[in-house]
Amino acid sequence: ELVIDGLRKRFGGTTILNGISLTVRDGEFFTLLGPSGCGKSTTLNCVAGLEHPDGGSIRVAGTTFVDHAAGVFLEPEARNLGLVFQSYALWPHMTIAGNLAYPLKIRKVGRARQRELIDDALDNVGMKHLRDRYPHQLSGGQQQRVALARALVYAPSILLLDEPLSNLDAQLRDQARAWLKRLQAQVGITTVYVTHDQIEALALSDRIAVMQDGEMLQVGTPREIYETPASPEVAAFIGRCN
Ligand code: ATP
Ligand code: MG
Repeated sequence: ELVIDGLRKRFGGTTILNGISLTVRDGEFFTLLGPSGCGKSTTLNCVAGLEHPDGGSIRVAGTTFVDHAAGVFLEPEARNLGLVFQSYALWPHMTIAGNLAYPLKIRKVGRARQRELIDDALDNVGMKHLRDRYPHQLSGGQQQRVALARALVYAPSILLLDEPLSNLDAQLRDQARAWLKRLQAQVGITTVYVTHDQIEALALSDRIAVMQDGEMLQVGTPREIYETPASPEVAAFIGRCN
């Protein structure tokens, strides 16, 4: 369970997150949906520990990641999160297997166990047969899957995905959505997904949080958001203009 309470962030004099609160349940596929610049990535970066909030707290499974009032800040390495961001950047000089081995080496996992974990993770995304290739020998969609496998290989507590499909063309994106959904069902990992694409959010999510200008407009199931938008802003953004 991920609990964000009253999260605030300013850049310069500008308030970017104006008190975000939400709870992501165990095993849930939870999407932050909102227009460009509304603060989705900033929220995710605060969870990942890449940004320091100016207020509020973030807890995962009872562990405090950050609590501004109490002066608590857990270093990113200690948070055990799986991250896939828009630029999925695999290390070009390492094979696919090498890319997955790296986070395991850092965690001092033994060689035999490394191999098992890598095979499992690549199997999950249907990429095991390409384990000895280099990233430039894969398509964009395949690289994206490997990036996801790399984020999953050390069994993170939560998967944070920031527009991981945005570099793909429409057809690849459809495929990627399908296996992302399948993967989440198989692995059952709590996932926070960021997108500005309404269709994607409605198709993939257990619940959606609609954001605008650093505020949470509505949290609900895709059906709730679509059928009973809480405000004209939500209705407009979700594509219900009547
Ligand atoms: P997009 O859909 O375009 O990715 P987003 O919802 O992820 O948008 P953020 O990246 O969270 O938006 O950015 C929110 C606002 O904060 C933007 O106006 C952005 O320019 C600003 N911002 C983000 N990071 C920084 C930073 N490190 N320094 C200064 N301003 C920043
Ligand atoms: Mg963003």
